[in-house]
Amino acid sequence: MNPEAYYYCYPMMKEFDTIVRSCQKIKKGYVLTMDQTAFYPEGGGQPCDLGTIDTASVLDVQEKDNVVYHYVDQPFTVGQTIHGMIDWNRRFLMMQSHSGEHIVSGLVHAQFGYDNVGFHLDTQGLMTIDFNGVLTQTDIESIEKLANDVVFQDIPITIEWPTKEQREHMAYRSKKALDGDVRIVKIGSYDTCACCGTHVERTGQIGPIKILSMEKHKQGVRLQLICGRKAIMDHQLKHTICAQLSPMFSVPVEGIVAAVKKAQEDSNEKSRTIHKWQEKYIVLKTAMLPTSKIQFLEEDVDRYTMRDFCNYVLSHTDCLVAIVVSKNQERYSYVMASQTIDLKTKVKELNALLCGRGGGQKEMVQGTFQTDIETIKKVIQQWNDSL
Ligand SMILES: [Zn+2]
Repeated sequence: MNPEAYYYCYPMMKEFDTIVRSCQKIKKGYVLTMDQTAFYPEGGGQPCDLGTIDTASVLDVQEKDNVVYHYVDQPFTVGQTIHGMIDWNRRFLMMQSHSGEHIVSGLVHAQFGYDNVGFHLDTQGLMTIDFNGVLTQTDIESIEKLANDVVFQDIPITIEWPTKEQREHMAYRSKKALDGDVRIVKIGSYDTCACCGTHVERTGQIGPIKILSMEKHKQGVRLQLICGRKAIMDHQLKHTICAQLSPMFSVPVEGIVAAVKKAQEDSNEKSRTIHKWQEKYIVLKTAMLPTSKIQFLEEDVDRYTMRDFCNYVLSHTDCLVAIVVSKNQERYSYVMASQTIDLKTKVKELNALLCGRGGGQKEMVQGTFQTDIETIKKVIQQWNDSL
């Protein structure tokens, strides 16, 4: 960590000028080091900055041994003055998110004594935080409310680089034992944490903090969290969905869940009724079938009912093969069942004759024929006659 880096000294810096120190061609593009940089390198769970250096695109930024490497798509000359521009939308969202995470982690630590043992922030602003203790839904709601209160207070977020001696008298959160330069991010009395990421200057800049979900994770829980612009976009999306659902069910937004449950129950009830009638229909229809080696039925039913139909006809008549076809747009879906004829082999022959696709086991096959019903009937009749 370099305390002098622009991204630490001036976290709100969107563009800067500096001099190229080295430029090396690599397999895909070039890797560039510069006298100074405002491009944050990936680290501490926070993705790197992107943007441009003159007309070159910055594809990745990494740090090793205090040197920041910029991966770009154009070459530069050593000593050349360049102009760097940060993709500010991306960086600001990263800062809003990271600062919001500190508030939530700090509050959980203070109230429950749990540590943040895993943090990930993706480039779209979706965060996961793992805590080494269990929280309830009520705890989460209370933490979310308190976290947003910290935002409303618009507290300054301050950075310190304490010495080892100073740190000995300091209480702060940290994922690991730290040596060398340690950067402390402080949010009033709510959180003090060792961190190498970038942060907004005041909590008011974070915008809304929203905990999306919680699930069990190892001995604790994993939270999904979003902040700032991401939280507003998420709200806009969900609001649009609710605004469409509400008139569809003729209920206010708070009545949507109950209305959907009711619609599901009604639909299940209708399905059960249809199934009962289908069963009766299958029994009646089967009783009326004339004797035949192949029972062929054309019915307007779904695949599940076609299978039920085949099985019932096969076990309640003396036929060798039961076939049900159902018109499906310009094709005929088919299901065939037999206990004596190897349908897996036979269906290949039928598919070839009837522009068909499909297969299955030797006792049951299913698929589609892309031809007219008269042709299908003719081919099945010929098969019947040959048995
Ligand atoms: Zn951090």
